[in-house]
Amino acid sequence: MAESKDYYSILGVSKDATADDLKRAYRKLAKQYHPDAQHTEEDKKNAEAKFKEINEAYSVLSDDNKRAQYDRFGSNFEQAGFGGGYGGFNGGAYDFSGFGGMDIDLEDILGSVFGGGFSSAKKAQGPSRGADIKTTVSLKFEEAAFGVKKDINVTRNEKCDSCNGSGAKAGSKIITCDKCGGRGKVQVTQNTIMGAFSTVKTCDKCSGSGKVIETPCEKCTGKGIVRKSRKIEINVPAGIDDGQAISLRGEGDAGKKGGPNGDLYVIMKVAPHKYFKRNGYDISANVRVPFAKMALGGDIKIPTLEGEMEFNIPEGTTSGTKFRVKEQGIPILNGRGRGNLEFTVDVDVPKKLTDKQREILTEFAKTFGEEVNPKKRNIFGR
Ligand SMILES: [Zn+2]
Ligand SMILES: [Zn+2]
Repeated sequence: MAESKDYYSILGVSKDATADDLKRAYRKLAKQYHPDAQHTEEDKKNAEAKFKEINEAYSVLSDDNKRAQYDRFGSNFEQAGFGGGYGGFNGGAYDFSGFGGMDIDLEDILGSVFGGGFSSAKKAQGPSRGADIKTTVSLKFEEAAFGVKKDINVTRNEKCDSCNGSGAKAGSKIITCDKCGGRGKVQVTQNTIMGAFSTVKTCDKCSGSGKVIETPCEKCTGKGIVRKSRKIEINVPAGIDDGQAISLRGEGDAGKKGGPNGDLYVIMKVAPHKYFKRNGYDISANVRVPFAKMALGGDIKIPTLEGEMEFNIPEGTTSGTKFRVKEQGIPILNGRGRGNLEFTVDVDVPKKLTDKQREILTEFAKTFGEEVNPKKRNIFGR
């Protein structure tokens, strides 16, 4: 006959937990140990076993009849001839409603009600993956367009090189935790607004392992982890845009107890360009063209990302006309080719004219039969 399981301590609740207490505890744990929330295959395996156990405990305790029988006879009651059909506690429909991708942190809610008594129960006991780190890097418009190598500074958790992450001073022994007597769990009674509440929680001294280091490493005070500032060179790929990020695998916080490192995410902050607006891989600008050139047509100089180029506009171009130059935009990220450059011409009307210019322009206007009196215009044009 298998050893009877303690469903209450599996869910981290007391023997007199209400249906709501059970539901909260279950949801929190199911979220934590959900296979989809794990980062490595090893974590996934460990979490799956735990996840099944949590579901088994909840399916029994959430059912009043099963719970009553369990309280009297333990988890082996079906073998004692009472339950019959209770062998199916493993599996079945899991209650995931409400926490598929939700942002509400159940732990915060529980923490505020129970004074944080639950939160230490989630401390990982085995190897755990290091946290991901997010940082930003500032880029010039052209750096984002054509790519660049950048040095960034990151402060992160790294494995202590003095003890190689073990947390133990050289030659130090591993001994049984005196706080929990090696059980890894401690019973805590708390007075809350909902009355006295007794819970079994993970021992904070040994993080549930039941073992502690006799003499901790001095450099990391036994944590096996130290904070370090690092300069990391990143390769910003050509074509990246403002707000996009690149990820560097394993460059985040160090994992604990041999767990894998987290990742580093670098978010791009791209400065605007003095001429160009970016829209995807296309860029656009306004170009001012002298009035005479608009009328006569011919080559004009237009700005490009690399400098400038000549572009031929036709005779009689009007203000507001758009032109497109292919492949003069932003290089396609992780691809081939470039976006386009689009520019809009605006007529550049001279603000001041010499007497000679005014005379010529007046003569010119007369050829169209227009009546122009520049002096009068100065008076009424205000
Ligand atoms: Zn150390
Ligand atoms: Zn302990």
